[in-house]
Amino acid sequence: MTARVLVVDDVEPNVRLLEAKLQHEYYTVITAFSGEQAIIRAQTDNPDVILLDVMMPGLDGFETCKRLKEDPRTRHIPVVMVTALDQRQDRIKGLSVGADDFLSKPIDDVALLARVRSLSRFKGVTDELRNREAVGKKFGVIDNATSRDNGQGARVLILEDDAKRSERLRRTLETEQRPMLMEEANSLGPDGQASVELMVVSTSGVAFDGLRLAAHIRSQSVTRNLPILAIVDQDDRQLSLRALELGVNDIISRPIDEEELLARVRTLIKRNRYVESLRSNVDQSMEKAVTDQLTGLHNRRYMESQLSGLLERAKRGGAPVSVLIADIDHFKRVNDLFGHDAGDDVIRQFSERLASNFRPRDLACRFGGEEFVVIMPETLPEDAMIIAERLRVSIATEPFYIGRNRDQIDITCSVGVAVGSQLDDRPDRLLKRADEALYSAKQCGRNRVMAQAA
Ligand SMILES: [Mg+2]
Repeated sequence: MTARVLVVDDVEPNVRLLEAKLQHEYYTVITAFSGEQAIIRAQTDNPDVILLDVMMPGLDGFETCKRLKEDPRTRHIPVVMVTALDQRQDRIKGLSVGADDFLSKPIDDVALLARVRSLSRFKGVTDELRNREAVGKKFGVIDNATSRDNGQGARVLILEDDAKRSERLRRTLETEQRPMLMEEANSLGPDGQASVELMVVSTSGVAFDGLRLAAHIRSQSVTRNLPILAIVDQDDRQLSLRALELGVNDIISRPIDEEELLARVRTLIKRNRYVESLRSNVDQSMEKAVTDQLTGLHNRRYMESQLSGLLERAKRGGAPVSVLIADIDHFKRVNDLFGHDAGDDVIRQFSERLASNFRPRDLACRFGGEEFVVIMPETLPEDAMIIAERLRVSIATEPFYIGRNRDQIDITCSVGVAVGSQLDDRPDRLLKRADEALYSAKQCGRNRVMAQAA
């Protein structure tokens, strides 16, 4: 997939030049000739990377970048500032308004493409996560919006084998972060090491090969997403490009400007925290999407999706699938006599007994209200009946506890069992037969297990 790049410059020939270079590499190019235009295009066209000229009449590059980074609609789009000269003040100012990177004019083709490639890769990841988060929000399973972060206070690991240089790095970073050297990291243990948010790696180490190390970090599943800032010697352009190719997230060259170092570290940490918060939102939403909140059992949606897969397999000659539906007898009475909290207590304890009565491969879920379904893959009818009876007994023989005083009440349940056949191509048909069996159990006086009619 090719990325979409928004090129912004007030001088048309500059725009056309960049456009040609990028199109030659099969990027899609969108253009804007002022900061105002750039903001509108960023909002409407969702580019993957923005190349932003610094010197423009009206809104200059800094102000444009600041506005883009303040707007939740465009905050996630990486911005590369294009400066007339490699000027330190511009870099610092750009980083402080949230720019992700810099290029100086005249633009070096290889550097340009390396930056665009690495930043659009990052955008691909955030887009995917943002989409999934948006879906979660629509279903109401995500409620905490991603908050803004100052990119400080992070554990930063310094890998530099020159003692003087590493000490200087540490002192600089200490003003905003919690830096540490390799020796300290070793004494942290796995949990402490997992809390590292950024690595600063020197590529001129004698005792280790910084680039090899960076590549190794990228290849390991636990550290795959760990941001890496590589330090290279001023004139080593080849090495810089290699580093970016290997997945290093950013580069700073010697002699190190302390302010620039701090700003780059901050940007990387902010960006990573943003991605991590998206990731954890998505994980939570996945978890919530398949789980019943009161009981922690699977919910109906998940159960039905699993059941249809199992039925498919059974239909193609796989082992039969049995299901049971269990319903708490006279549950309404519990709610009426003792209140809904007591009702919730009963549901929770019922779920615990249910879960502990089944095998790991069985799938227990709350079907709704006081109704529960258990799917038993590869289970013959006679075995399903034995398992259902065991559940009934475990509910009826031990009292339930409700309220703060843990008052005891007796609970029973009725259970209907059905076994999937060649005719059950859909979950609802099988569940309906189990439900009919459950209805007979209720009719016959409750607290019993009935199988589907032959
Ligand atoms: Mg200009």
